[in-house]
Amino acid sequence: MTIIDHTPQLSDDQPVPFTVTEAGARAVSASRLPSSTPGHELVPAMIGATPDTSAIVYIDCPTSFCTLDHIDEPVRHVEDLLHSSDSVDCTARSFLNMGRLGLYLSAVVQSDPASSDPRVRGAHILLEADDLTYLTPEMAETLADEGIAFFSRLRQLARAAALHNQTVAADCDPDMDEALRRVRAGGES
Ligand SMILES: [Zn+2]
Repeated sequence: MTIIDHTPQLSDDQPVPFTVTEAGARAVSASRLPSSTPGHELVPAMIGATPDTSAIVYIDCPTSFCTLDHIDEPVRHVEDLLHSSDSVDCTARSFLNMGRLGLYLSAVVQSDPASSDPRVRGAHILLEADDLTYLTPEMAETLADEGIAFFSRLRQLARAAALHNQTVAADCDPDMDEALRRVRAGGES
């Protein structure tokens, strides 16, 4: 009979509890590795409730659009991880109250791998908007220019998201599986 002693042994040989130092996190933050998931790379992410209990883990990141540094923006649980592009914004202030944003339009490509909705798990556009407001003709001209640029960039975001989803979907395509099977079978058809 084997007796396993669970009593903590305190000695000089005892491993030091794992903590992530700032220098260590900086050193690892730039590293990326190929991922087996299409459209993704393995990137380091900081996960944990407090700096003392956080750890760096490698996660699948859709780097074709995600610009987040997952080390700089730690999350408590792996399920909390989101992937997001830089935002494109279009804003205007009312001439009756320049201290307040009257119109606010912001768009990002985002994906939430832990979502139960496949559309939210995939790359999608998150559009944030606010109320319209009073504009002088000059302000409206400026807004029109910004709006044209905004919607043009919104189209680019939409295409980046669609391209990412196509890359992911292509791996699940039954025709692709068949082609892959033939290649692996030594080219017999
Ligand atoms: Zn990411």
